[in-house]
Amino acid sequence: MALLIDGKKISAEIKDELKEIVAKKKAEGKEITLAVIQVGNDKASSVYVGNKKKACEYIGVNSLAYELPEETTEEELLSIVKELNERSDVHGILVQLPLPKHICEDKVLLAINPDKDVDGFHPVSVGRLWIGEEGYESCTPAGVIQLLKRSGIEIAGKECVVIGRSNIVGKPMAAMLLRENGTVTVCHSRTKNLAEVTKRADILVVAIGKPKFITAEYVKEGAVVIDVGIHRNEDNKLCGDVDFDSVEPIASAITPVPGGVGPMTIAMLMCNVVKSNA
Ligand code: NAD
Repeated sequence: MALLIDGKKISAEIKDELKEIVAKKKAEGKEITLAVIQVGNDKASSVYVGNKKKACEYIGVNSLAYELPEETTEEELLSIVKELNERSDVHGILVQLPLPKHICEDKVLLAINPDKDVDGFHPVSVGRLWIGEEGYESCTPAGVIQLLKRSGIEIAGKECVVIGRSNIVGKPMAAMLLRENGTVTVCHSRTKNLAEVTKRADILVVAIGKPKFITAEYVKEGAVVIDVGIHRNEDNKLCGDVDFDSVEPIASAITPVPGGVGPMTIAMLMCNVVKSNA
């Protein structure tokens, strides 16, 4: 039976560690403030923003909420970002995505001061990650690294295969596994003979965005399987990109959905927030 990697427990440990760090900073007179901007009232975004505010409260960080109407113009949003960039009492800025169609996301993300870019999406943050400089890291892949490390899974020298090359998961995931000295292969929609490549993996990270796509035929016996996917199936139940029932019997370790990678994203966001007033 595979080791079940418990993201709920590991994320709770991380948040408790951060809570202690924040309390120490407070004792030295250092407060941390995160500004969270949401434009429109996309239901899923409201849930994510609510969870981020709760996490801030838990670890003792102030959160400034900007709940802007759907009709907000790009200029208005850019001017708020500019003002927050200049405020010395605001340490992190987070713009909840997706933005309404009339606003260019890239333009807004680029406007955030890289020193306050707690989501790690700014090209400067991405560049820092690839050249091995200290900076803000994309939260979901950073969470995967913590799951592996805190479960005692060695990355150095391992064959690591990432399925997916998105800017928020696949690409930064590849960079982080490489930084940990894994031998990294990235697969995507144009990869030929996918199963042949994925069967090489000692560590397989799946971020393909297709429910239960990865079955036992794609996995080497004894591999560690990390499922980044999250979907709601016909019965309104959550499932991942990996067919858990088929893969679990042959994996040495696996993340469940829910309770695997999901809870790690906010925990890693909080790590970035705490870093923002180091
Ligand atoms: P995406 O749709 O942007 O990227 C999917 C990637 O899969 C693409 O790069 C594509 O090339 C690749 N792909 C598609 N079909 C393929 C195929 N047949 N063979 C090989 N590669 C193929 O998705 P994303 O934003 O990277 O997210 C991936 C999954 O992770 C989604 O299910 C998403 O909901 C989930 N996600 C979860 C979290 C979290 O906090 N747990 C965060 C972000 C994304």
